[in-house]
Amino acid sequence: MNETDAQHRERMQTLAAEMQAKTRAARTKRGLLIVHTGHGKGKTTAAFGMLARALAHGRRCAVLQFIKSGNDAVEKTLRGPQLEWRQVGDGFTWDTQDRAADIARGREGWALALGWLRDPAVQFIVLDELNVMLAYEYLPLDEVLAALRARPEGQHVVVTGRDAPPALVELADLVTEMRVVKHPFAAGVQAQAGIEF
Ligand code: ATP
Ligand code: MG
Repeated sequence: MNETDAQHRERMQTLAAEMQAKTRAARTKRGLLIVHTGHGKGKTTAAFGMLARALAHGRRCAVLQFIKSGNDAVEKTLRGPQLEWRQVGDGFTWDTQDRAADIARGREGWALALGWLRDPAVQFIVLDELNVMLAYEYLPLDEVLAALRARPEGQHVVVTGRDAPPALVELADLVTEMRVVKHPFAAGVQAQAGIEF
């Protein structure tokens, strides 16, 4: 064996040891803090996809929609004893007219979320549009981060919405940013059943 082969073997041994260490570490299971952010479509959709998976595995799940956007067909389909689904208020728009009312609804939603975040029986939580509530400073970031940090060990939480605060991104285990490549809205195509709701 020449020197190059020996060096190669050494490098491969190091690599194998690293991979084994990573695999061992990756065997650890724990609740994840997941953030879907960015300006492209798919943040809520991906969260609902995970929700369907969690329900399929018999997990107890809860969804809170901070910004209600009409009845979501997914709720009707996934409805059952393992799923609690709440929407706060009766509408919130980007050009909100009543800031105080939106803050009150946000607080109401956060109180519900806090109950789930303290309950180890709730295994999977979607906090839809929480990022937006935080970006608008409608909810105190420190309090939200503290509750997420203190939640039960096995509990998964998905937070969606544009403009996730950097401190939340820092705390999260899994962060995905949806980027717009194309959106049909730009071509004048309206929201459609089965695609947007
Ligand atoms: P979805 O709920 O479809 O997964 P989302 O959660 O990623 O979308 P939101 O910021 O919650 O996106 O926006 C909700 C609505 O706005 C959806 O109907 C979505 O199709 C639409 N939308 C998302 N991204 C864009 C965009 N870049 N341009 C126009 N409309 C968009
Ligand atoms: Mg959304």
